[in-house]
Amino acid sequence: MRAVSTANVAITDRVYVKNARRLSSRMDRNMPRNVFSGAALDILYSTDEIEKLDAGTRDALLEFVTDFMDCDHDNAPYCGCPERKFVRHLIELRREGMSPSRIVEALEAEYGLYAYEGDVLDFLDTSVRSLEAIEEVADTLAEYETRDEARRLRDDIVGSRQ
Ligand SMILES: [Zn+2]
Repeated sequence: MRAVSTANVAITDRVYVKNARRLSSRMDRNMPRNVFSGAALDILYSTDEIEKLDAGTRDALLEFVTDFMDCDHDNAPYCGCPERKFVRHLIELRREGMSPSRIVEALEAEYGLYAYEGDVLDFLDTSVRSLEAIEEVADTLAEYETRDEARRLRDDIVGSRQ
């Protein structure tokens, strides 16, 4: 594990729409680079603008909408669900044994997004440290079930770091 990281920057601030400028020129809206920025979520949520894109890009972005934006909250898509679901997805990919570079490839193939391997690695490291903190607190409080669950999850994330 690396001692220094950009831990206070959320991974969701560092996930980008591929070819955002090209997409903007095909829509009547400006697609921001960061897929979790309010304006980008707004475009994705209404889906009208996405219909104007080529089939490959459209399908990838609709996949993102289906997987991460399918909640019924009044304040959707600003309810925090997309970010939470996405982070959970990253953890799941890691638990399936994917390296950060494989995770980056999967995001591109599935959703037409890109991220940097180093940022994914930082995110995983940060998650491991958070889980360690949870383990410690849970142990102190004799919440052994929580402690063991945190430990299992941490072991899965650490896995075989490639
Ligand atoms: Zn929600």
